Amino acid sequence: MTRKEIAAVLEEIALLLELSGENPFKSRSYTNVARQILQSSEDIAALVREKRLRELKGVGEALEQKITELVSTGKLPYHEELRARFPETLFALFDIPGLGAKRIKTLYEDLGIATLGELEYACNENRLITLKGFGPKMQQKVLDGLAFAKRHQGQYLVSAGLEAANALRDWLCDEKSVSQIEIAGSLRRRKETVKDVDLLAAGSDPDRIMARFVEAPGVETVTSRGDTKSSVVLASGLAVDLRVVSGTQFPYALAHFTGSKDHNVVMRQRAKDRKMKLNEYGLFQGDDRLLRCEDEEAIFAALDLPYIPPELREDRGEFDAESVPELVQREDLLGVMHCHSTYSDGRSSLEEMTAGAKARGYRYIGFADHSQSAAYAGGLRPADVERQHDEIDKVMEKAGGIRLLKGIESDILGDGSLDYDEKILKQFDFVIASVHSKLTMTEKEATQRLLAAIRNPYTSILGHPTGRLLLSREGYPLDLDAIFDACAEHRVAIEINANPHRLDLDWRHLRTASERGIKLCIGPDAHSVEGLDDVDYGLGIARKGWLKKDDLLNCMDAEELLAWRRTK
Ligand SMILES: [Zn+2]
Ligand SMILES: [Zn+2]
Repeated sequence: MTRKEIAAVLEEIALLLELSGENPFKSRSYTNVARQILQSSEDIAALVREKRLRELKGVGEALEQKITELVSTGKLPYHEELRARFPETLFALFDIPGLGAKRIKTLYEDLGIATLGELEYACNENRLITLKGFGPKMQQKVLDGLAFAKRHQGQYLVSAGLEAANALRDWLCDEKSVSQIEIAGSLRRRKETVKDVDLLAAGSDPDRIMARFVEAPGVETVTSRGDTKSSVVLASGLAVDLRVVSGTQFPYALAHFTGSKDHNVVMRQRAKDRKMKLNEYGLFQGDDRLLRCEDEEAIFAALDLPYIPPELREDRGEFDAESVPELVQREDLLGVMHCHSTYSDGRSSLEEMTAGAKARGYRYIGFADHSQSAAYAGGLRPADVERQHDEIDKVMEKAGGIRLLKGIESDILGDGSLDYDEKILKQFDFVIASVHSKLTMTEKEATQRLLAAIRNPYTSILGHPTGRLLLSREGYPLDLDAIFDACAEHRVAIEINANPHRLDLDWRHLRTASERGIKLCIGPDAHSVEGLDDVDYGLGIARKGWLKKDDLLNCMDAEELLAWRRTK
């Protein structure tokens, strides 16, 4: 079991205990231990084997026995018994903002609500207005949450999509008759969320390829199986289509199934205008004479277009642009900013993070742990800052060739001010200013708060600017125009937070920001060494937002970056 899976079971037990009306302390002990397991740098299986679980704070005899059972057998009867007390559908209610165990218990016991549908119905009948612990405001909040959930039903984060798609692609590659295979669809376009996975293969033996596909690990149901197309659903609920075509058809099919729909409409029209016909089988001239194209590039060329990278195929200007930009690439990224360490809520030490960044080919790593108000995340008090800076100097001496930058992720307080006084702020190489608290704001309040932070001379990067969490929370409303103006005036960069749950700022605004001369910065917001790999999601979004090497802070070397900051 992974650390995440173990923690998820414990967290669910905590919720179930609360739903059952048990002592809140009991429930909280499970939450606390779950959090410790997530943050611990120890291998949990090893702790179990060596009977050292009690070294985790809050683990007594009962929890020790339960975690041991869970890790050794993969399940926990205690958890299953608790779960059986409630209908399965009730758990979906936890996804609605504002609804915790206590309120869900009331809904279930007093109104018999166990599904999202029943909840919506009850809101429409105004049943929540007089219900204990609710009220008119809360009812509206629940209704908004339900509408949000409906809009995003059946969608998955790009990370979940890519993980599944890459595993399936590797699995299919082992079939010898496969000559080409690509991930197509919105995943290839690096959309932030996806509805399904599209795979496209070319090969000499479609039957064998399909046979291997439907037997892939993780496949729960086979929806359909044919020679050219098969569909399956994975255990996660994600649907995957595989199409198998001939080598000749492959480039046309790849272009077609990469889309988007809007992009394809224009492509087909361009073919028509040139007395040709374009579809997934080919590009045809006259009475269906195939115009041979070796690759996608040749298809674009036949339609008098330069190669358009998949990320740009949204019909958002790629056909009108004077030239398609040379998009930023992985090797252009010289450093990573926005990394957490064990000094705040990260799981890896400064040394481990540095080694991880070096192994990934970066020339510098910027640490940005949480600031003092973020007590829940172990935010740094002034003395901790001093301690961290000393350690950074020491690690840098031994690190050999990689530079460490001293940054901070400073909370933007309610009034827009940063979380330290000047004496501390001026010690940092860079300051990422982020909102983590009081997220319910009107557009005016949110904009004013951020503008104040941007005007602060110590702010270098605006972190996850809208605060959104994909598929679970809308960002606070912002007057982006005013934010961009201020960032350009005060030379503050805007983050592309690369955590797949955020991908904030949204790619749809990146081109505008860069055209106003604002620098963008891909921040992995890494809380562990593996978190550094989230940069790839941010890179996909940067490319989708038309960004070039020159638009990104991460493409400067450390000296250039510090000079950029000092010339404020
Ligand atoms: Zn943050
Ligand atoms: Zn962060």
